[in-house]
Amino acid sequence: MRVLITGVAGFIGSHLADRFLADGHEVIGMDNFITGDVANIAHIRNPRFSFVQYDVTNYIYVDGPLDAILHFASPASPIDYLEFPIQTLKVGSLGTHKALGLAKAKGAVFLLASTSEVYGDPLIHPQTEDYWGNVNPIGPRGVYDEAKRFAEALTMAYHRSHGVPTRIVRIFNTYGPRMRVRDGRAVPNFIAQALRNEEVTVYGDGSQTRSFCYVTDLVDGIARLLASDATGPVNIGNPSEMSVLSMAETIVRATRSRSRVVFQPLPVDDPKVRQPDISRARGVLGWEPRVGLEEGLKETIGYFRAKLGIPERGM
Ligand code: UDP
Repeated sequence: MRVLITGVAGFIGSHLADRFLADGHEVIGMDNFITGDVANIAHIRNPRFSFVQYDVTNYIYVDGPLDAILHFASPASPIDYLEFPIQTLKVGSLGTHKALGLAKAKGAVFLLASTSEVYGDPLIHPQTEDYWGNVNPIGPRGVYDEAKRFAEALTMAYHRSHGVPTRIVRIFNTYGPRMRVRDGRAVPNFIAQALRNEEVTVYGDGSQTRSFCYVTDLVDGIARLLASDATGPVNIGNPSEMSVLSMAETIVRATRSRSRVVFQPLPVDDPKVRQPDISRARGVLGWEPRVGLEEGLKETIGYFRAKLGIPERGM
C-alpha cells in the first residue's frame, strides 16, 4: 500500500510509520511540527518513507496513487489545547475535510484518529461505542472534544454521501516512548518528575480513573482496523482501569525515585472515570491488548531516562 500519515512526527504517528514501513508499505508523512518533533522520525532511513512539512488545514497535494490515509494530525494533550485552541479546532475540522477530500479523489481508505474524549465526562461506564457522550462544548477541553466529534460526523458524511471507505478509531489513554518530556499528560509528567526526584503532581485527589494502553498495542489495533471493513467507530484501549494516584505511586516505585506525591487543583472538566468497552474490537478485529503495565512502563521509563540523560542507579 501507499499510505499517507498526517501528524507523522507525533507520538502515535511516528509509531504508525514504523509499523507500516515494517509491514512493507510505502509511507508519506506530513507534519507541521506544532506539537510533533522531528526527533520522532529522524531514525527512519527507509527509501519507502518520505516526509513533507505541511499544515494539513490547507489543500493537500500528493502526487500519485494513495491506498490509505491515516489522519493523526492534532494537538492531543490538555496543555496543548490551552496553548493551541484554534489550531486544534482547525485541524479537526478543516484538516479532516482536506484529508477526506484527498481520500475521495484518490479512492483511498480514510482512517480517522478519534478519541475517548468524544465521551466527555462519561455518564455510562465503561464506555461502549454507542454511548453519545457528555461533553461541555465551551470548556477548555471543548476545542479538542468538539473538533473530534465534528471530524467523526464529517467522516460519516463522506462515507454516506461519497462512498469513501472510512474507519474511526476512538483512542483511549495511550503511553510509550516518544511522548514529549513536557507533554503535560499524566504518564510522561509522572515519569519525568520521578526520574528527577521532583514532586509528582497529582491533580485533584487522584481518585479519577484512566485505563492506559501501551502504544504498540494501539498501533496493532489501528492496523487491524484499517484492514477490516468496520465503518462505525471502534474503541481501542486497555480496559485495565486504575486511579491516577495509583499510577503516580506505581511510577515512583518503578523508577525507585525519592519523589513524593503532591496534590494540585483538578483541571476544568477533567473526566472522573474512563474505561473502554473493547467488545467490538475483540469481536470485529480479533484484537486485545497484550502489553501489561509493568512491561510498558519499563520501556517508557527507559526512553525517558535516555532522553533526560539519567542513568539507572545500581540495585
Ligand atoms: N494528571 C495528573 N497530574 C499530571 C497530569 C495529569 O494528576 O501531572 C491527571 C489529569 O488531571 C487526568 C489524568 O491524570 O485526571 C489523565 O490526564 P492526561 O492529561 O494524561 O489525559 P486525559 O485522560 O485527561 O486526556
